[in-house]
Amino acid sequence: MKPPRRVVVLGATGSIGGSTLKVVARHVDRFRIAALTAGRQAEALDRLAARWDPDYVVLADGADRPQGDQWNGQWRYGRDEVKRAAADPSIPIVVNALVGFAGLESTLAALEAGKRLALANKESLVVGGELVLEAAAAGGGELLPVDSEHSAILQCLGDRPTAEVSRVILTASGGPFRDWPADRFAAIRPEDALAHPTWSMGDKISVDSATLANKALEVIEAHLLFGLDFDRIDVVVHPASIVHSMVEFRDGSTVSQLGYPTMEVPILFALSAPERLSNEFRAFDPVGASPLEFERLRREDFPMFELGVAAGRSGGTAPAVYNAANEVAVRAFLSGRLSFAGIPKLVEMALSRMPATPVESLEHLVSVDAEARSRSIESVGTQPATGGEKTP
Ligand code: NAD
Ligand code: MG
Repeated sequence: MKPPRRVVVLGATGSIGGSTLKVVARHVDRFRIAALTAGRQAEALDRLAARWDPDYVVLADGADRPQGDQWNGQWRYGRDEVKRAAADPSIPIVVNALVGFAGLESTLAALEAGKRLALANKESLVVGGELVLEAAAAGGGELLPVDSEHSAILQCLGDRPTAEVSRVILTASGGPFRDWPADRFAAIRPEDALAHPTWSMGDKISVDSATLANKALEVIEAHLLFGLDFDRIDVVVHPASIVHSMVEFRDGSTVSQLGYPTMEVPILFALSAPERLSNEFRAFDPVGASPLEFERLRREDFPMFELGVAAGRSGGTAPAVYNAANEVAVRAFLSGRLSFAGIPKLVEMALSRMPATPVESLEHLVSVDAEARSRSIESVGTQPATGGEKTP
């Protein structure tokens, strides 16, 4: 029997990180945790290290192991060490479960080093665009989506060429405000946005799901992963999150992938594909799941969707500006400094001030990200605290 394949989990203390470790726990004959990284949660990382005994752990935003630590293995510190772990030649599989632009360097490093990259950190693909695809082509790395919709599309496509696809239809839960009248949006509080109806996720993606920024990021992600132009990517609301997406082929056949909402299925597929391993899933009950309902997306009430897709269509640096302004806006919203309606206004302002130009290099993207971020932070800073209808 082959030895287990070594895996590094970037962002091990988060929601996707935790689900990845649950998946690996059921397949220890196939996968071994070789390294784990976290942002600043040193205690949580220490507990995971004691459980998994990896070769080393990386604390990105810290310089010390926690007091009273249980694990006495090797600790490394700093964001560069996260990137180094992604490129570690002794580890063939990288799970990137970092949040936001901070994951871009690791995505590039893993692909340049020829790894299998199980990518949850969609922001890195959306922002990096062609740079990420070029890194995969140059390094021979494999890019497997962890996002449930893109995993579904990959599974529906099988080995058929994109030329046979007439369109893909991404499903969206619609988020917590799917059926809220737009005139109530001014009263939305962070805790309302964090209460997702079907998925339990980290804070940033929960807010992105509430504004539908997440779905715009996913449209761009589908465009890049599957080489489809934007006119061939549709979105439909499916509140139950059971149909994970669909592929319509040119012969009129539409293929979909179904299952109860759990990230463990797409994570396992990203680790094991093309093989399918056994999983302790809850058997799908078509009668119990009936009826499967679909609705149109309320594009007019959730401007982050159109803004994001337009940024994707513009290409170049536009997705980086959209993403950076959104990251600032989400953080400001969660800390009560920006209203829900203020999020798209801040992002629209950043996009209008920084017109798209072609991406020259990673350094170029880093500087665009930094500029969009600092302009957005400045705009938030000039706003009064939220609590009503105040917007930038
Ligand atoms: P999370 O906030 O729960 O976890 C993030 C992890 O990354 C934590 O371990 C944190 O310590 C670490 N981290 C955060 N910022 C960092 C930085 N600057 N440097 C180093 N480490 C850092 O997030 P999540 O919900 O697990 O989401 C991770 C990614 O997966 C996001 O891109 C998200 O869009 C995507 N995703 C998540 C889900 C889900 O169900 N949670 C579904 C699809 C896609
Ligand atoms: Mg998704």
